[in-house]
Amino acid sequence: AKLTNDDVRNLAKDLGVKFVRLQFTDIFGILKNVAITVEQLDKALDGELMFDGSSIEGFVRIEESDMYLRPDPATFATFPWKPQEGAVARLICDIYDHDGKPFAGDPRFVLKRAIQEAAEMGYTMNVGPEAEFFLFHVDSEGKPTTITHDKAGYFDLTPVDLGENARRDMVLTLEQMGFEIEASHHEVAPGQHEIDFKFAEALDIADKVVTFKFVVRTIAQRHGLHATFMPKPVFGLSGSGMHMNQSLMKNGKNAFYDPAAADGLGQDCIYYVGGLMKHARAISAIVNPTVNSYKRLVSGYEAPVYVAWSARNRSPLIRIPAKRGESTRIELRNPDPACNPYLAMAVCLKAGIEGIKNRIMPPAPCNRNIYEMTPAEREQLGIGSLPENLHEAVQELKKDKVIQEALGEHIFGRFIEAKEIEWDRYRVQVHPWEIEEYLTKF
Ligand code: ADP
Ligand code: MG
Ligand code: MG
Ligand code: MG
Ligand code: MG
Repeated sequence: AKLTNDDVRNLAKDLGVKFVRLQFTDIFGILKNVAITVEQLDKALDGELMFDGSSIEGFVRIEESDMYLRPDPATFATFPWKPQEGAVARLICDIYDHDGKPFAGDPRFVLKRAIQEAAEMGYTMNVGPEAEFFLFHVDSEGKPTTITHDKAGYFDLTPVDLGENARRDMVLTLEQMGFEIEASHHEVAPGQHEIDFKFAEALDIADKVVTFKFVVRTIAQRHGLHATFMPKPVFGLSGSGMHMNQSLMKNGKNAFYDPAAADGLGQDCIYYVGGLMKHARAISAIVNPTVNSYKRLVSGYEAPVYVAWSARNRSPLIRIPAKRGESTRIELRNPDPACNPYLAMAVCLKAGIEGIKNRIMPPAPCNRNIYEMTPAEREQLGIGSLPENLHEAVQELKKDKVIQEALGEHIFGRFIEAKEIEWDRYRVQVHPWEIEEYLTKF
């Protein structure tokens, strides 16, 4: 059962909580904290704690800055790493404006709205994320580098890997915080890791992704390492993705599973894929939200480049894993861990639900290696490309009314504005590659 406000009060007392962090994310998925003492907990639980929203990027203008935090008691957790005295707990909060209305700039509200729309059609979304990250060394001044000293490869277990200890500690800490860890392994690149936890309902998982990133960074630091969720930190090595496994439940059953169908996939699953593919180019701006995200989405590293789906190989945007029954799901492969998980799940769910509502048939599944096809073959099969950079993705988002509706006017406007500035700042830089290429040539 979900925790109530009274449970939280009792737990805080029993566990000797001295400090509580009230958490929420800005529209970019960056975790924000308002720290209170346990004496203020009652006031906080009653939703009476105010903060100045104008201090948060992408939130509000100064004149409308009074915001209220309403903690969700179900998110109560204590941090297993203990300070000298008393425990520290956290609560994830919804944000309300001064009129007592959910704040349109709160990503958690955006996800709740999409979940509500799906619920009205009888659906609940389940998500299982696979977040990858790098563990890098810090220099003598404590500054993060991109150096790893481990030599391990995919699934290798070698004593030289300094990251192994840190990762074990991360898994234990996450388990103490209520995560059900399904797998944890070394990834393809040196210093790269993946920790998978069990799928659950979208809101719970979005909260967990935010917590996950925070825990991974904290534990890495305690091991003298720097954890980064930057999508492509090193040229020539695999980037870090965050595949999003998704399924819908209806009447307590997996709606993507149909034992009567030849491939075991229900009509809802097919239409969901149709909706995701139709809106994939606009969704990119949300699930691949940085300049750097697009350095990962290139051929040769198992990251998707084309808008296609398949049950067989791992190169397309959407893969249907072989498991059926309650494990029937689709795996969206372009998201990276720099995305805001609330917005990412909201836009995917919205697109999938649109697919079901409008019976959008996806193109035929593509079971060949797309990277070996000629452009003409791809065109013939109707296989388009994902945006090649942030600028292109933002242009796609500007054209897609359905995805805009999922984000809402407020977040859509602020997001576009911020990403256009980000792109312009990048665009005017002189890249080291250009110096190498042209300095002596001309
Ligand atoms: P991969 O084979 O791509 O490496 P993993 O085994 O690493 O996949 O991760 C699979 C993820 O999918 C896990 O988070 C798991 O809990 C999740 N998952 C399993 N069943 C479902 C389902 N029905 N809906 C959504 N996610 C699911
Ligand atoms: Mg995996
Ligand atoms: Mg696996
Ligand atoms: Mg992986
Ligand atoms: Mg995967």
